[in-house]
Amino acid sequence: MGKPTGFIDSGREPPERRPVTERRGDYREFYLPWGEAQAQEQGSRCMDCAVPFCHMGCPLGNVIPDFNHQVYKGDWKGALATLLATNNFPEFTGRVCPAPCEASCVLSINSDPVTIEYIEKEIVERGYENGWIKAEPPAERTGKKVAVVGSGPAGLAAAQQLNRAGHLVTVIERAGYIGGLLALGIPEFKLEKNIVQRRVDLMAEEGITFLTNINVGVDYPVDRLLSEFDAVCLACGSTQARELDVPGRDLDGVHLAMEYLSQQNRVLSGEQVSDEERIEAEGKVVVILGGGDTGADCLGTALRQGAEVVHQLELLAEPPDQRPASNPWPQWPMVLRSSPAHEEGGIRDYSILTKSFSGSNGKLEKLHAVRVEWQEGEPGTRPSMVEIPASEFEIETELTLLAMGFLHPEQDGMLAQIGVDLDGRGNIALDENRMSSVPGVFAAGDAARGQSLVVWAIAEGRETARAIDLHLMGKTSLPHSLPNHG
Ligand SMILES: Cc1cc2nc3c(=O)[nH]c(=O)nc-3n(C[C@H](O)[C@H](O)[C@H](O)COP(=O)(O)OP(=O)(O)OC[C@H]3O[C@@H](n4cnc5c(N)ncnc54)[C@H](O)[C@@H]3O)c2cc1C
Repeated sequence: MGKPTGFIDSGREPPERRPVTERRGDYREFYLPWGEAQAQEQGSRCMDCAVPFCHMGCPLGNVIPDFNHQVYKGDWKGALATLLATNNFPEFTGRVCPAPCEASCVLSINSDPVTIEYIEKEIVERGYENGWIKAEPPAERTGKKVAVVGSGPAGLAAAQQLNRAGHLVTVIERAGYIGGLLALGIPEFKLEKNIVQRRVDLMAEEGITFLTNINVGVDYPVDRLLSEFDAVCLACGSTQARELDVPGRDLDGVHLAMEYLSQQNRVLSGEQVSDEERIEAEGKVVVILGGGDTGADCLGTALRQGAEVVHQLELLAEPPDQRPASNPWPQWPMVLRSSPAHEEGGIRDYSILTKSFSGSNGKLEKLHAVRVEWQEGEPGTRPSMVEIPASEFEIETELTLLAMGFLHPEQDGMLAQIGVDLDGRGNIALDENRMSSVPGVFAAGDAARGQSLVVWAIAEGRETARAIDLHLMGKTSLPHSLPNHG
């Protein structure tokens, strides 16, 4: 703890966001850079608690008080080493993580938590600027070959760890871009794609092979996958979107959020999209169904495309502003969350059930909905949804985006052909060694865990890499990552 009174002397001051009017005119990141003195002052707020709950909050077990101290002292290189010891990609988590570490920071009991996420970003960006982050090819190769299917954060973390353990790693990706949702889901205004590419280039320099536009199970037979590699890590994500089975769903103008977001990211990367395919919000009334992060990403994108007005509707009730007594610190606070995109415009509404869509000539014109009430039942049971009589209403809309979450990985194709067992939620079932029911086939990230977060995907990728190394070599020096695995 560099400065014993830091948390008394200074308040929480995150970096400033660019003005809303400027942001809405481009796809650049929300945040302005921090100055060094500001980052150091924020690092000084860490209390170096006897029990650092932030460790428990971070799925990667980041050694947060140590790097806060190093930042306060101006030891940026030391801070980088501390951070990289547990986190392969702080440049991603430092930008998009919802920061469960901050929710469990002890300061947040009666004050504002340390700005851990932004400190992370400052450390890693200084690492790149100063040339401290370099390719780290392994000193020796083991001769073992590992395939990683899927190039999202789980696949990338597994690939980097396995490569560092000396295995020859090939990442196989069906999209034309490496990065999974980092590249094609999360919008540029949260994570610019040159940040993803910078890391992919380093990993290629470390000796990892990246293959794109190869859909395993379609363009690449699973028999070949299983015979050519000594082990396989399935990091194929949770890509089966939750659908809305109501009349009119097939009208032109109703799209899944990922169709919309990934197209926009592809367009910004310079791809040409035909007029018939293009999903544009310009001049339209846009409705987003789903009040979560994906919905907020659609909101920010629609506003940048020039939507006339954007409604973001959520089926569940509006969360409280403050933690309820039943949700105390250090639990994740179940409170209303706003993304920077919410500062930019849009109308949020809650407890709304969409009943149908209508239109003419096959084109969407209206959304029909009803207001609902969530009634508490017996203790231990879920609240039940009741439609409020005479509360039906409609919104004239030409573009509606379904951002209602994801169910599980796509079960047909590759997974069915490999024959892995699924768990009760439809995800890839794993044993205590993170191996699936098929020997030598492991899994990581959303494909095994269900829809989650980048930080969890990295943690899962690291843990699965350790399990694969142990399986191949009978021993491993790769570290554990997941809290219940060591
Ligand atoms: C719009 C959106 C915004 C999000 N924003 C955030 C955020 O701000 N912060 C956060 O922490 N989390 C966010 N998330 C969640 C986060 O992105 C995911 O939890 C994370 O990317 C999961 O990583 P993964 O590697 O398991 O899978 P993914 O990132 O989904 O990657 C899986 C990859 O596997 C590939 N694949 C699938 N099947 C095959 C096959 N048969 N052959 C070859 N390749 C295949 C896919 O093309 C994909 O590239 C967001 C999610 C979405 C949808």
